[in-house]
Amino acid sequence: MNKILIAEDEAPIANLLRTALEGSGYCCLWAEDGERAAGLLESEPFDLVLLDIMLPKADGYEVLEYCKSLDVPVIFLTAKGRLEDRVKGLRLGAEDYITKPFELMELLARVETVLRRCGKTGRLLTLPPDIEVDTASHVVKRAGLPVSLTAKEYDLLLLFLQNKNIALYRDRIYERVWGEEYLGDSRTVDLHIQRMRKKLGLESRLVAVYKIGYRLEV
Ligand code: CA
Repeated sequence: MNKILIAEDEAPIANLLRTALEGSGYCCLWAEDGERAAGLLESEPFDLVLLDIMLPKADGYEVLEYCKSLDVPVIFLTAKGRLEDRVKGLRLGAEDYITKPFELMELLARVETVLRRCGKTGRLLTLPPDIEVDTASHVVKRAGLPVSLTAKEYDLLLLFLQNKNIALYRDRIYERVWGEEYLGDSRTVDLHIQRMRKKLGLESRLVAVYKIGYRLEV
């Protein structure tokens, strides 16, 4: 289930959003100001933020910067007619914007589109330009053709796709994929990563990070 943060200081709007999104199967949390939004983003993972621009304590632009650093996509909520807000929001890296007052059908369609485009729908994860992972069927495709991965290689790929551009420590990789405490033998991790990235042609993008581990560059 996708988790969405609603950062909106007007309770009636937040409630409307929440009711509509929960009715469509999303899990929602509400932050009534920018500081609370940042605090929630820090403490748990979100798939998307619906972000009001005019927020108390820290405004939407500030919160957007924080979302970008965490790789969480943002849809801005803007007051009607503020074209400059929309343009600024998109330039700064928001995925989309919704003008208030909004139609719930349109809102849900935009949420769905952004989640899919950002590979957050839970079922299909993508790594542009050509890697696709269907997490329901466990089918991995490269340029449309299935690639056969071992279970560990598949788990490694998912771990990197869920942590794009983040340097992951070898011990953390080992503990997440093998489910056991890391005792300092880095060869297991290295060997599996080497095979997986060769099969997927990721040699230049899944890079070794000196003294740390690996990072998938996107
Ligand atoms: Ca507001």
